[in-house]
Amino acid sequence: MKNGDILTATLESGETLEYVFSANPPRGGMKHTFFTPDRKYAVQFFNNPRDAQSMLMQERIRSIVSIYNPTLSEKQGGALGNTEKTADYFRTKFCWPVGVVKTPEFGIVCPTYPQGFFFGENASAVLPLKGKDKKSTWFTGRNRKYLNKSELGDFRMMLKIAIGLARSVRRLHQAGLAHSDLSCNNVLIDPKTGSSVVIDIDSLVVPNKYAPEVCGTRGYIAPEVLATMERDSNDPHRCLPCVQTDLHALPVLIYEYLFLRHPLMGPKIYSTESAEKDDHLAMGPMATFIENPDDRSNRPDDLDVTISSLSEGLEKLFLQAFVDGLHNPSERPSAMEWESELLRAWNRLVPCENEDCDKKWFILRDEKEPVCPFCGTRKTQPLLKLGFKSNIRGKHGIFRDKTEVYVYDGMPLFDWHLFSNIHNDEKAEPEMRAYIRRHNDMWLLINNGAEGMLSPSGRLVPKGTAIELRDGVLLCMADRENGMLAEATVI
Ligand SMILES: [Zn+2]
Repeated sequence: MKNGDILTATLESGETLEYVFSANPPRGGMKHTFFTPDRKYAVQFFNNPRDAQSMLMQERIRSIVSIYNPTLSEKQGGALGNTEKTADYFRTKFCWPVGVVKTPEFGIVCPTYPQGFFFGENASAVLPLKGKDKKSTWFTGRNRKYLNKSELGDFRMMLKIAIGLARSVRRLHQAGLAHSDLSCNNVLIDPKTGSSVVIDIDSLVVPNKYAPEVCGTRGYIAPEVLATMERDSNDPHRCLPCVQTDLHALPVLIYEYLFLRHPLMGPKIYSTESAEKDDHLAMGPMATFIENPDDRSNRPDDLDVTISSLSEGLEKLFLQAFVDGLHNPSERPSAMEWESELLRAWNRLVPCENEDCDKKWFILRDEKEPVCPFCGTRKTQPLLKLGFKSNIRGKHGIFRDKTEVYVYDGMPLFDWHLFSNIHNDEKAEPEMRAYIRRHNDMWLLINNGAEGMLSPSGRLVPKGTAIELRDGVLLCMADRENGMLAEATVI
C-alpha cells in the first residue's frame, strides 16, 4: 500500500466506507487516524492490536456508539429518552463515534471536527497555526498573546463556552457516563462564536461496567487520582477517573475560560527536593486553590479580577469546588449546578461602556456598583431589568418571581422568557420570539412571533410591533398555559 491508496472499511452495520491510506497517519496515545476522501469522517484503528482484540474494549465502544449515544435518537438506537432534536443539538457538542469498523480490523468512525474548530489563515501573525485544532490552551495559556485579536472573543463568548461545556458534561453524567479525561486537549473551543466540542469520546467510562484506561491530563487530573496513582490498580484505595473526577476537571476548565489562568497554579513551592515532587504535591495531595480565602499561601500578588467579580452563585460554586471539594470529591458541585449557575450569570451580563475594554461584557453583581471589573469603567447609561414571574400552579392570577435578566440593545428573547416550563437547554426551540431595542432613549420590546403577548393594558401585541418598557411596566409574555409576566425596572 502506498500513500493516497483508497481502502474500504466494512462497518458492523454492514455499510462500507472508503478511506485514504497514509504511511504515516496522525497518531495519538491509543489510536491512529485515516480520513475519508471528503475528510468528513475519521477512521481510527488501535495502535496496539491487543486493545483492538479486547472483548471488553469492543463491547464498551459498541455501547458508546449505541445505547449511550446522545447524538442518536432513542428511536435510532441511541440514548434513552433522546429525541431527534436533542440528538441534533448534541451532535454539535460532541465529536461522538458514529460507527464500529469490522474489517480490515476493529476500529471506530468519528465525524471530523467542524471547520470553526480549526485555525484559519489569519489566526496569528507569528505562529503557523493554519489548520491546527483550537485546543483551549491556545486561548487560556501563555500562547494567547500570539493570536490575532479577532480569534480571542470576549468575556461573554467565554461564558457561553463554559455554559456549553457544563451542559455537555451534564448530559454525559445524566446518561451514567464519565468522560475521564476532560482537559484543554479534549475540549476544542471557538471563542469567536462561543462554541465548544468535546472530543476523544471513546475513552468514556461507563461506571461500574468498564474501568477507565487513562488517568487524565496534567492540570486536570483530580488531586485524589494523582495522589494515589502509584498504588496498584487493584488497591481499593486507589482513586480512578469517574464522575467525581470530571467534576474537578470541569470547574478547572470553566475557571480557565473566565480568568485565563489555572486555579491551582500559583507561586507556592511545595517541595525543594525536585521539580517533579513539587508538581506532584501542587496538583495532587497538597493542591491549594490560588483564591482560597483561608489559606493565601498560593495566592499570586497580582490577582485583580477574582471569583468575587462574578455572580454570588458562581463564587459559591468555585469555593465549593476548589476549597470544600478539592480534596473531598463528594463536596464538588454537579455539572447541572454549574450549568444553571452559569446561565443565571449569563442573565446578569451587561456591556462595558469602555470601547477599548477587551472583555466587552461583565457580570453585574451589585446594581449599586455597576463597574466593569476588568477595566474599572463605571456604567453611566441607565440599566433595565426584566423580572419574569410564573403563575403558581392551581392559583390563577398569583405569580412568583422566576428569573431576572438585564437587557441590552439587540437582546433576543426565546421561549424560556415566555413560558415558565421551558428552560434554556437542548430541548428548547432556538427561534427568537422577541427582541429588545434601545431607540431614542427608550427601551423597546418587539414581538417577533410570540403568540398571545399582551400589553400592560391587556391589548394583543401583534408580530412586528413594539411595547415601550418603562419603569414598572408589567406585560404578559404569553397569554397561554405557563405563560409568564415580565416586569420592567429601570435601575
Ligand atoms: Zn470593561
